[in-house]
Amino acid sequence: MSRCSLPRGPGPLTIPGSTRKDASSVPTAVISDIHANATALRAVLADIEKRGVDRIINLGDIIGYGPDPLECVDLVAERCAWSLIGNHDFAVLYEPTNFNPGAEQAAFWTRAQFDKEPDEAARARRYEFLGKLRVRVVDTPPDGKIPILAVHGSPRRPINEYIFPDDVMTAVDKMKQIFDRVERLAIVGHTHVPGVFTDEPDFYPPDELGNMCYLFNDDEKAVINVGSVGQPRDHDPRASYAVLHPDRVEFVRVEYDVDKTAKRIHEVPELNDWLGDRLYEGR
Ligand code: ZN
Repeated sequence: MSRCSLPRGPGPLTIPGSTRKDASSVPTAVISDIHANATALRAVLADIEKRGVDRIINLGDIIGYGPDPLECVDLVAERCAWSLIGNHDFAVLYEPTNFNPGAEQAAFWTRAQFDKEPDEAARARRYEFLGKLRVRVVDTPPDGKIPILAVHGSPRRPINEYIFPDDVMTAVDKMKQIFDRVERLAIVGHTHVPGVFTDEPDFYPPDELGNMCYLFNDDEKAVINVGSVGQPRDHDPRASYAVLHPDRVEFVRVEYDVDKTAKRIHEVPELNDWLGDRLYEGR
């Protein structure tokens, strides 16, 4: 496991002891699990812009649970280089798979919001965007040397499988099968818990990484979970995302107006109150 000891902030950086001297090149912001929380998404997009990062990719679950599905789809379509399909996008577009009753009801309410859009062209454009979301992408960021596998859930079952932090202790075979499908690096979302899985196997939450940053290591495979923009579940209510550099990934947390999103959820009878309540505690 390699920890970063780097100066903070954007701009050219030279990694001490790194063989890659060109590590200062174009970064990519990786967002995931927005879950129709436009207030959180706008705060994250503003933070990305403040850092001077132009390229954004999205690992899925744009919609489901939250009150602003149309706005979130429009923002992602406009701002992201590409997007993956998550299990909640799949549920709205096709069918809910293994959803609890609250999540299923949220998916049907979300679908109704797209259906009742009066502007026929806007309705068609959004459905076309959702219909073209990708299941897996092998991304080589500009100036990047390491191809990165991107999926919503896991490299083994891209849309629906969760990789939990506890799996490194309790599901070693599962972790081995997952890492067998990773060449060097993978990025995922889905659990809403940010951190780095290594093929030891081991799991490091961002707080245990120096400067909330993980330095890629030639001797180690890693699966990086970027956390959730719109519904974090690691007991930190702030929106989570990550910035990918050619040699490292930095985890970022952004405060947003949780009250605003929670109140909007509470106003919609079809969205369970718990979906708003949980945002205050990040769980
Ligand atoms: Zn999700």
